[in-house]
Amino acid sequence: IKPVHIIGGGLAGSEAAWQAAQAGIPVVLHEMRPVRGTEAHKTEGLAELVCSNSFRSDDAETNAVGLLHAEMRLAGSLIMQAGDAHQVPAGGALAVDRDGFSQAVTAKLDAHPLITVMREEMTSLPPEEWDQAIIATGPLTAPDLAAAIAARTGADALAFFDAIAPIIHFDTIDMNVAWFQSRYDKVGPGGTGKDYINCPIDKPQYEAFIEALLAGGKTEFKEWEGTPYFDGCLPIEVMAERGPETLRHGPMKPMGLTNAHNPTVKPYAVVQLRQDNALGTLYNMVGFQTKLKYAEQVRIFRTIPGLENADFARLGGLHRNTYINSPELLDGTLQLRARPGLRFAGQITGCEGYVESAAIGLLAGRFAAAARLGHSLSVPPVTTAFGALLNHITGGHIVSDDEPGKRSFQPMNINFGLFPPVEAPKVEGKRLRGKEKTLARKRAMSARALQDCSAWLGTTTGMKAAE
Ligand code: FAD
Repeated sequence: IKPVHIIGGGLAGSEAAWQAAQAGIPVVLHEMRPVRGTEAHKTEGLAELVCSNSFRSDDAETNAVGLLHAEMRLAGSLIMQAGDAHQVPAGGALAVDRDGFSQAVTAKLDAHPLITVMREEMTSLPPEEWDQAIIATGPLTAPDLAAAIAARTGADALAFFDAIAPIIHFDTIDMNVAWFQSRYDKVGPGGTGKDYINCPIDKPQYEAFIEALLAGGKTEFKEWEGTPYFDGCLPIEVMAERGPETLRHGPMKPMGLTNAHNPTVKPYAVVQLRQDNALGTLYNMVGFQTKLKYAEQVRIFRTIPGLENADFARLGGLHRNTYINSPELLDGTLQLRARPGLRFAGQITGCEGYVESAAIGLLAGRFAAAARLGHSLSVPPVTTAFGALLNHITGGHIVSDDEPGKRSFQPMNINFGLFPPVEAPKVEGKRLRGKEKTLARKRAMSARALQDCSAWLGTTTGMKAAE
């Protein structure tokens, strides 16, 4: 059997190699360290954790990343196996001894009879004769390969920085204060003239908001990241520094909007939110990319009328991060549409985080193995954490009035907003409210996910991992 070639032995590449090899397919894993390093890696170990040593919450009942852990364990994940074996105490989180973890992954892959690890930098796309290959070179993909990817995908389709605006769960926005309306009621193809959620701000609120932005604690760029500011994508606090009125003439401009709850009073400024996923469960704050610290974002953005109880699916940020425009470029099994058989996995696909990167590696490894074995390729259902994450990366076509057919694709952690909603079960015939309702919904989504994931793993593509 011809091998699957995997470029990059990080979280995604290591898991992909394991999954393909466990399915009986030979793998060649090409990792450039120690021949060439990155700005963040410090060792030559495979699956090195470049920053924190946490895989975040391990609660599979009410936390989406904990649920992803559980699905990965069901699928025989090497990353989870090594994480569990090298756990250190961290309350409800799964934190690991980083060296023990990376050494365990390296030893398992080195010892696998079907895996060959080559320590070399790939400076171009995998040659055409590697008909099954996976690029998993991460947020710090070496420059020559990044240039080769850009040449193939088009420069616009490869980003070197993310510019993330906060994303909010729709059901936590107060629609008694906010209202649906597109600016000037503009109706784009497929739009309704009501594509945005608008939050009204009066003058004193605006002035206090600008003051809070200027005073709020910010995170600094690391020296090697540079300062990637370009007009059109400035952090809101940098715009605010340019003058108190800048935001009111930029992302917070009130023009063309009438408060549906109070039509006679013109808002002094407006914060707009745009639908972020096809399910309509998530909305992003338009133009609100920011380097404010996470706690400061929550504190300051909850002062916006309508967002007092906002639950953030992800907070804003700006980081060095190489990633492709996956919804445009990849099919549902992570293959480059322009070159079937060449897949992408890990953070370079636009997922975010150690666990998510490994999970996408797991799927890419299984898809490549199934293709090599001539098995049919079914994707995990969107009700599972695997499927919800994959759908964020490869699906979810959004129509909006001002950018028809465009979707603002930014990296994202797994969260329950990516899953199709469920009704919260009633308890003793009574509807639950508030926190209890949220928890009951999460439990119902988790139970559905684990059931559907087990069923998917029983199918050909799900290929139960041979232990
Ligand atoms: P990586 O784990 O980076 O693996 C990619 C591998 O490809 C590397 O081993 C690299 O050496 C290799 N490679 C690159 N180019 C080539 C080439 N041309 N040829 C051969 N090999 C190549 N996530 C979290 O959950 N928690 C955190 O605390 C966290 N902190 C982060 C801090 C920084 C500075 C960065 C950049 C990211 C951080 N992330 C964090 C995000 C992300 O989860 C990790 O980067 C994660 O390691 C991504 O997994 P990956 O497999 O996609 O990439």
